[in-house]
Amino acid sequence: MSINNLIEDNAGLPILWIIVPCYNEESVLPITAPLFLDELKKIISNKKASDQSRVLFVNDGSKDKTWQIISDLAKEDEHYIGISQSRNRGHQNALVAGLMESVDKCDVTISIDCDGQDDINAMEKMMDEYLSGSEVVYGVRSKRDKDTAFKKFTAEFFYKLINALGGEVVFNHADYRLMSSRVVEAFESFQEVNLFLRGMIPLVGFKSSNVYYERNERMAGDSHYPLRKMMHFALDGITSLSVKPISMIIALGCFVSFLGVVGMIWAIVMNFLGATVAGWASIVCIICFLGGMQLLSIGIIGEYIGKIYLETKKRPRFIISERTWEPYKRKYKG
Ligand code: UDP
Ligand code: MG
Repeated sequence: MSINNLIEDNAGLPILWIIVPCYNEESVLPITAPLFLDELKKIISNKKASDQSRVLFVNDGSKDKTWQIISDLAKEDEHYIGISQSRNRGHQNALVAGLMESVDKCDVTISIDCDGQDDINAMEKMMDEYLSGSEVVYGVRSKRDKDTAFKKFTAEFFYKLINALGGEVVFNHADYRLMSSRVVEAFESFQEVNLFLRGMIPLVGFKSSNVYYERNERMAGDSHYPLRKMMHFALDGITSLSVKPISMIIALGCFVSFLGVVGMIWAIVMNFLGATVAGWASIVCIICFLGGMQLLSIGIIGEYIGKIYLETKKRPRFIISERTWEPYKRKYKG
């Protein structure tokens, strides 16, 4: 048994919470919820977690019947519980809401998407790693053969780029991970509102290991991350983790200015040699290039300023409106 368990139930087994963010998932939740429960029960019967372990669904302000389904599941089996956010705030915030809810109620958490893309059976392997002393276990995709060539290329390029810029992100790991409550508690002090969890958790530290699994297609429903949102998320990740792009702008500025000086010297020399410069086109090209560079640079700096602006507001990252174990009751019934 790991020495890291802060809370242990009577049987001396760790309490596990499986945290599942759900947004408009009415088509897939009825399929995957029993799979989560089966896996949890398997882990419990193999004496790797206490029977007080739970599957926590975090409804992220869904507009369909997701919360209704979660509430019904909670009535059906005590291992299912759920919390609901007051509105949609995005995957990362929903995950943080679940993690913060769990912090004083369990020993260990595993976060997983609710669409069955991540191999649910890898959870037991994650628990094995936890029981042998790891406090963070990253679920890592062993291959990407189910992805389109474009998705594979852009995703792998993104992981390489973010690491080259100084962010620490585990290659091919998304948000399928185990964290001990000690790690979640330490993470609580990371109060930023721009969340990119896969880059933030490595900063918390503690002993970590990887578990490899194959990622499948969604069991039902559609992805909430079309290309546009994916690009935005990637940019968010980079600007949340690294300020290197700003240093690169300075370096680029110096380089372009140097080229400008060389160009001036060249023009003066050519003038003395009597050669006239015809190039209207070359001047227009240079102006366009520099204009583009300037706009891009201002945009990158603006991206950081926007982040500072959001951070200074210190708005809450999540607001929980309901819990399956304590439904919200109106004070006045009119
Ligand atoms: N999700 C969420 N809030 C959102 C968008 C997504 O909680 O605003 C959840 C969603 O229900 C799923 C997970 O985040 O459990 C990952 O979303 P999705 O499967 O759509 O992303 P993909 O796997 O396509 O990147
Ligand atoms: Mg998915």
